[in-house]
Amino acid sequence: MHSGAIHCYYVMSMSNVERSLNLNKIYCANCIHCQLFSVPQEIGAELHVRCAAEKWKKKLGQEKKYRYSTIMRRCMDSCDCYESMGDAETFLRELRDLQELEEKMNGTL
Ligand code: SF4
Repeated sequence: MHSGAIHCYYVMSMSNVERSLNLNKIYCANCIHCQLFSVPQEIGAELHVRCAAEKWKKKLGQEKKYRYSTIMRRCMDSCDCYESMGDAETFLRELRDLQELEEKMNGTL
């Protein structure tokens, strides 16, 4: 998937979303380097995210990847590679609202 693909997929499944935004932090979801990719599962596929700037690392240096459902928790105090995709506040609030809506819908299915 291309960089910033999060913007194209923010209506998709997410859970465990942080309800409040801390606009003093950098949200990776609004960064051009935050990339979405799918991991094949036994049935279907699961969406994951990675940092194309290789800022997400495990203790031993391997690349760290996360489930897409946790994207709102990927925050940085600062990042020298951050490249905003646009108005972070508007995007993040819409993303959070859509997550809440989808969680409600999933709860009623
Ligand atoms: S470059 Fe920095 S802000 Fe952008 S996705 Fe990676 S860690 Fe997050």
